[in-house]
Amino acid sequence: METKPYGKTGKRVSVIGYGGMRFRKSGDAWDLDACAALVKLAHERGVNYFDTAPGYCEDQSEAIMGLAFKEMKGDYYVSTKSSEKSGDALRRQLERSLARLGRSRITFFHIWCVLTLDDYRVRMAKGGAVEAARRAKDEGLIEHLVFSTHCTGEEIETIVGEGAFEGVTVGYNVLNFPFRQRGLAAAHARGLGVATMNPLGGGMIPQNADYFDFIRGPGDATVVEAALRFNAAHREISTVLAGMGTREEVLGNVAIGETLRENTPQAVEAIKSKLSGSLNELCTGCRYCEYCPQEIEVSKFMQAYNKKMIQNVDAAKGEMKWHWRLPLEKAEACIACGECENRCTQHLPITQRLKEMAGWGAA
Ligand code: SF4
Ligand code: SF4
Repeated sequence: METKPYGKTGKRVSVIGYGGMRFRKSGDAWDLDACAALVKLAHERGVNYFDTAPGYCEDQSEAIMGLAFKEMKGDYYVSTKSSEKSGDALRRQLERSLARLGRSRITFFHIWCVLTLDDYRVRMAKGGAVEAARRAKDEGLIEHLVFSTHCTGEEIETIVGEGAFEGVTVGYNVLNFPFRQRGLAAAHARGLGVATMNPLGGGMIPQNADYFDFIRGPGDATVVEAALRFNAAHREISTVLAGMGTREEVLGNVAIGETLRENTPQAVEAIKSKLSGSLNELCTGCRYCEYCPQEIEVSKFMQAYNKKMIQNVDAAKGEMKWHWRLPLEKAEACIACGECENRCTQHLPITQRLKEMAGWGAA
């Protein structure tokens, strides 16, 4: 398995990291030992970055990882998270995670799911999450303090510029890369490690393999391989987190990690231009449309609408509710001034789509 440096931490992480959010039940019940066996298998095959969080997989993921870690020898790195905003609550959650994982220290502890700059300021406030995490780091309970985010590239640039973190985990894939590119570049330039999550667009890419077949390059047997390779080929990205819930997924992802080579910036740009040209009905998340007089976050609505186009309305509604945390009713504020459509690089019928989405809210 190829490894890359994780920022300036001195750690080298496997280009494919284990995403601990896709463990599955055996029938109606959890077989924690069977799930832990997958983690051990991945480690035996060279994966050394293991990402989990409270709540993943009906709150079983940390326990599964903890079971596996008991038997794993050699070096590996543990990542978990807390979305708590108050220092006291974060501390309680950290202590519970340490106990579940059977660890005295978390390698990469995430201030989890920073949604906006305002949210970041709340975490940074006196008595808040970051203060408590720093104290825990001084005590040796945390090795590296990092954050995960759904912020825009520009917002990520601001956060990393303030120097509180040694790394960032960010959703990045062939569907949303223009939305976050700038943040990746800023993080890399400041010496932060970068993990990417959601490389398969929340399953949208493999579930619509025919639609996304155009992303396959020479040597890519599947769209999954192509999508993982797209992320891992970025010089800025240290590890690509891939969710693994079966033996086949572990072996398949490991095989991809063994054949990855870092592409040149020119090669990455060539893939990007091919993608932008092919995604002509989809929002690419470039955000040129963000000048709405009604303060509608157009790009977020349009990225959620992607899910309707490729999956269904429920998937799009879920994206709005759980990922962007925006009410569909906000779309009703559109006065059809046309500003966003004039700027849209994809020439999308934004007002028509917003009107449709407002209707879903009423349904
Ligand atoms: S058309 Fe609607 S969404 Fe677009 S800028 Fe005007 S008010 Fe905002
Ligand atoms: S709606 Fe158009 S301009 Fe706005 S982010 Fe999507 S593709 Fe870019």
